[in-house]
Amino acid sequence: MEKSRLDEFHEVYRDLHRHPELSFQEHRTAGIVADRLTALGYTVTTGVGQTGVVGVLDRGAGATVMLRADMDALPVLEATGLPYASTVTATNANGLEVPVMHACGHDVHTTALLGAAEELAGDPSWVGKLILVFQPSEEIGKGAIAMIEDGLISRFGTPDVVLGQHVAPLPAGVIGLREGAAFAASDGLRITLHGRGGHGSRPETTVDTVVLAASVVMRLQTIVSREVAGTETAVVTVGMLRAGDAANIIPDSAVLELSIRTFDPDVRTRVLDAVTRIVNGEAETAGAPRKPEIEFIHSFPSVVNDAPAGDRVSAEFARVLPQVRVVDPGVVTGSEDVGMLAEAAGAPCVYWLLGGADPAKFAQAKTIDDLTKVVASLPSNHSPKFAPVIEPTLEIGINALATAARTWLAPAAH
Ligand code: ZN
Ligand code: ZN
Repeated sequence: MEKSRLDEFHEVYRDLHRHPELSFQEHRTAGIVADRLTALGYTVTTGVGQTGVVGVLDRGAGATVMLRADMDALPVLEATGLPYASTVTATNANGLEVPVMHACGHDVHTTALLGAAEELAGDPSWVGKLILVFQPSEEIGKGAIAMIEDGLISRFGTPDVVLGQHVAPLPAGVIGLREGAAFAASDGLRITLHGRGGHGSRPETTVDTVVLAASVVMRLQTIVSREVAGTETAVVTVGMLRAGDAANIIPDSAVLELSIRTFDPDVRTRVLDAVTRIVNGEAETAGAPRKPEIEFIHSFPSVVNDAPAGDRVSAEFARVLPQVRVVDPGVVTGSEDVGMLAEAAGAPCVYWLLGGADPAKFAQAKTIDDLTKVVASLPSNHSPKFAPVIEPTLEIGINALATAARTWLAPAAH
């Protein structure tokens, strides 16, 4: 991309960074995306899955490629000190006024996909069909499913591959591509335990939900240690436990919230089944008058990168982007809902990490160990100080998406 065009995308990035929007509130961002894609000749549909935007460029016979970027920001008070830092607040789903920041870099993803949209629209050398997906609400795990349920695949076409990227505190110039299970599945559960409340002095008349909750918490910790093989990975965290209001009142109910991370679908099923069994079993043991309620707060499947498709992308990155180094970053315990798009389409997924940290910070790193230490010392995604460097992050992000798409879009016959 020419420098003057690239400069314009820097402006787009700073503008999006200054104007972050919470999940399912991405109206301004969606408007900017729709206007730009329309000007480039894409067929644009807005309001897909509430605030999602889909742009299609159909050049006939050939492969169908889906490129995906997410658009939402987080309720975080920005502390980067950047001249284009956000000072925006918004009303969250609970009616509270909260600060908003692009603390996960979805502004990088959106800008890079707009750049790739321009590159590919101006490139006459390919045929096939390009489906650009600007997804809302990734942070709360509801955007991909909302677009799928709104007919993303049936209305716009079944892709042969789903491609996307996430900016990370790797050095800019490095792309992390992990084949196989790359990002963890994440399940958030809310469990409500029911007992029988009463006077703190007369426990014999009650079913004490504090004691019940305590034993549930302890027993849940045996899932990973006793039910998951030592060679498998799982995390079960009780991040919230609420019961009672006073020392002399035994409460009627208790609420727990769990975060569960797994990579293998069989392990995931096993852990979720164990949670259900333990919660119901402990309630029965306590003599609870009602069965507990177990609800999903969110659910992301793991992102599994298709190995042959991943190899094709890596090889093309190496050939076309010699300044970029592709590394295997290992598995990431973070989660992403991009995998749902590929799953819904029955298509392979290739989702890579885009280095966004200042390469100068890595000047002293000689070994992978050194590099890992520097990465760990930098503000991570969701930090109020998360601040990717604009270049070379954006130029590489634009080229990576366009290059990966061209890998599938056969050259037009002359
Ligand atoms: Zn995030
Ligand atoms: Zn993110």
